[in-house]
Amino acid sequence: MSDKIHKCLIIGSGPAGYTAAIYAARAELKPIMIEGMQPGGQLMDTTDVENYPGYPEGVNGPQMMMNFRAQAERFETDIRTGYVTKVDFSGPVHKVWVDEKEELQAHSIIISTGATAKWLGLESELRIRDLGGGVSACAVCDGFFYRGQDVAIVGAGDTAAEEALYLSKVCKNVKMIVRRDEMRASKIMQQRVFDAGNIEVLWNTDTVEVLGDQVVEGVKVVNSKTNEESVLDVTGFFVAIGHKPNTGIFKGWLDMDDTGYLKHKPDSSHSNIEGVFISGDAGDKVYRQAVTAAGTGCMAALDAERYLGENGLH
Ligand code: NDP
Repeated sequence: MSDKIHKCLIIGSGPAGYTAAIYAARAELKPIMIEGMQPGGQLMDTTDVENYPGYPEGVNGPQMMMNFRAQAERFETDIRTGYVTKVDFSGPVHKVWVDEKEELQAHSIIISTGATAKWLGLESELRIRDLGGGVSACAVCDGFFYRGQDVAIVGAGDTAAEEALYLSKVCKNVKMIVRRDEMRASKIMQQRVFDAGNIEVLWNTDTVEVLGDQVVEGVKVVNSKTNEESVLDVTGFFVAIGHKPNTGIFKGWLDMDDTGYLKHKPDSSHSNIEGVFISGDAGDKVYRQAVTAAGTGCMAALDAERYLGENGLH
């Protein structure tokens, strides 16, 4: 264990973490960033990003994260490879263990551990996703690439309903694959789906395979009541079966809702523990955009700077 108490430690390296780092470093907080399991976060799985302001021609997701990183490094953020395995927020100085051994201490912690999209787990789905061939977990990010085309979306919660509605405005027809004979989504969202006109809900339907070598050429589905198989003639396949916030290590310390999303105090990034701040998708199940994550990363760094100043720690 090092005796040094850092001013600011950032856990996670997506848009929220890097933005927090840029602000914290420019405020002379000398931030340490622990990159986490997937350096760069969810955007490392994305191909083209066209909705992040400042890139009029769009940008490749991994390239954008390299740019974020370079900007954080320009102001001398100490970026360290590792995964935070344990935290102790019991005292005024917060403790964080990296890869189960190294212990770091800090007066302020910014959490930007993000969330992970759930996938069906089909070989064909994951293969075409990794090729950037038309399998996506974010309709708002990728729906535009399929404008005027037919697409399918799997899921029946509020996210699936919201994304199906988004796709219905951009695409020609949307097939919504629902595994049961009812939807989990709120009634008002369901009604909007039914009213959309170009969304066909396929009840009691499971996805068997995403067809195509490199790009989506169709989706094979089966009706679980009749066992009848059919092929949907679509060019995009969207998966909206939920996200899992990466917040397991904070259980017992930080307030979270029953799905694990961290709760922050209204209009701020403050958690229930002094000196611990929340940014990005770990505390946001509603917006989940790179630009909103970056915004909350900025908020967390400003809140951390104020907290340190008010407590004579900066
Ligand atoms: P949910 O967990 O609410 O829904 C997941 C959906 O995916 C369920 O319908 C589930 O089916 C389905 N599903 C899960 N696994 C599979 C599978 N293997 N195959 C097929 N279908 C599957 O996640 P959401 O992301 O939709 O929502 C998370 C939370 O965020 C909710 O509380 C929601 O209300 C909230 N939210 C709020 C919004 C808003 O207020 N604007 C917008 C979006 C989300 P089944 O029902 O059969 O279990």
